Amino acid sequence: MDVSQGRKGQPMAGSISPAGETFTGNRALHLEEPLIFELDAQGRCGVDLDPAPAVQDRLGGLKRRAPVGLPGLSEPQVVRHFTRLSQKNYGIDSGMYPLGSCTMKHNPRLNEKLARAKGLGDLHPMQPDSTAQGALELIDTLAHWLKTITAMPAVAMSPAAGAHGELCGMMAIKAAIDVRGEKRGRVLVPESAHGTNPATAAACGFSVDSIPANARGRVDLDAFKAKLGDDVAAIMLTNPNTCGLFENDMIAIAEAIHDAGGYFYCDGANLNAIMGRVRPGDLGIDCMHINLHKTFSTPHGGGGPGAGPVVLSAALAPFAPLPYVVHDAAGYRLVEHDEGGDAQPFGRLKGYHGQMGMFIRSLAYMLSHGADGLRRASGDAVLSANYLLASLQDVMSASFPGPCMHEALFDDHFLKDTGVTTLDFAKAMIDEGFHPMTMYFPLVVHGALLMEPTESESKETLDQYIATLRALCARAKSGDIQTFKDAPRFTPRRRLDETAAARKPVLRWKAETEGTSAAQ
Ligand SMILES: *Cc1c(COP(=O)(O)O)cnc(C)c1O
Repeated sequence: MDVSQGRKGQPMAGSISPAGETFTGNRALHLEEPLIFELDAQGRCGVDLDPAPAVQDRLGGLKRRAPVGLPGLSEPQVVRHFTRLSQKNYGIDSGMYPLGSCTMKHNPRLNEKLARAKGLGDLHPMQPDSTAQGALELIDTLAHWLKTITAMPAVAMSPAAGAHGELCGMMAIKAAIDVRGEKRGRVLVPESAHGTNPATAAACGFSVDSIPANARGRVDLDAFKAKLGDDVAAIMLTNPNTCGLFENDMIAIAEAIHDAGGYFYCDGANLNAIMGRVRPGDLGIDCMHINLHKTFSTPHGGGGPGAGPVVLSAALAPFAPLPYVVHDAAGYRLVEHDEGGDAQPFGRLKGYHGQMGMFIRSLAYMLSHGADGLRRASGDAVLSANYLLASLQDVMSASFPGPCMHEALFDDHFLKDTGVTTLDFAKAMIDEGFHPMTMYFPLVVHGALLMEPTESESKETLDQYIATLRALCARAKSGDIQTFKDAPRFTPRRRLDETAAARKPVLRWKAETEGTSAAQ
């Protein structure tokens, strides 16, 4: 048989339900796909290559002792291998992706078209400024609209992700405190903040002091004030927070932190919930990152490249990192070195000046939506989340009373005494064809289920999602635990040992001839 169909005839899937097994391990037309090295047939090749010419050894006698071990495959095998791998990838183009806190929304194709446009698509970051005036103008225009939307005077464009933006903001805060000649080593982080906030503060050498949430899922204002002191550098607060709630005490928090001599970092990754409705600058914040891949619909690319620009208040603007774009009579130019004057850049955050492809897509999104469209997008995102909340709260347990922002948070109280856990429930959703919501985050509630439908799902999709979750709730309450414990039943792999996968990852393949069947 063709070795690319199933692993050399061995059934691959788990054996939870032997009746459901196939000989090949394939399921319907979902085909098993071995590693490319396992498809290897030594000597097979898709192309005819001339023998390597004899060349003079210039490596001082360093010679390869054995073949490099590249797999030998025919061209159709290679095509099938990579096509099958691509089909294993579930993404927003495949279906609803209600992963709370991640804003998995549609990436308009217009953005993609413009990012590939001639001239923009083949820019090189080392081109002289004089040959990239349009690109620099584009960065400057996007910066202008980011400042306008947030009512902030400055923006650093180079950070490559939300968490990288946090690093940028906290480094600016550190630089500002150093210039004041002060020692402030403590950062206050509410429990309802995103996990990257305390991680960033710690990475910058601050100690993290947690502020409890109140019964309404917001920052406990009195607890926050009690923690203020002259060693506090900043508060890092997420708004809307990770419970999907708007922090109502923003102005009081801003006043209190400023009175104490600290800065106000706002995690603005969820700007998609408030864009066109609240301007963060009006709330008294000093810096905030904006995840272009969330609010402005750029792809969340498996690990990058992303963009997380950081808007800065007048107090922090001088410390923005290099490089940045300036515009004068001579045109646009990138400032690559500290030129003195008011600017006191804390340094450089990364190579080059940011992710151009993401800038193009974001500006395309802004300009194609217009001010009214952006406002509508945030309104629809909040409406969709509240539709889920309202349609599910009689069968699932909403964690906090009242409406939510862009995401709806439930805890596992509704599963009490059923024997079904949040994890089981999420796995059962996979069998129904839905990517699960975010699980067990935020940590402030037990067994969290955090759903973010975004503005780009149709009502029909939302209704099908709601009906599916309602059916699963009924099944859990009917005592049918086994279906949940077995889930997912219809995926190529069944329930995985996620702890083992995290603790003992198998990262390297080794040939069986080396004495091991699987890699360690
Ligand atoms: C997504 C998110 C982040 C992190 O952004 P990345 O681009 O993934 O680094 C930080 N804070 C909040 C509130 C988020 O939702």
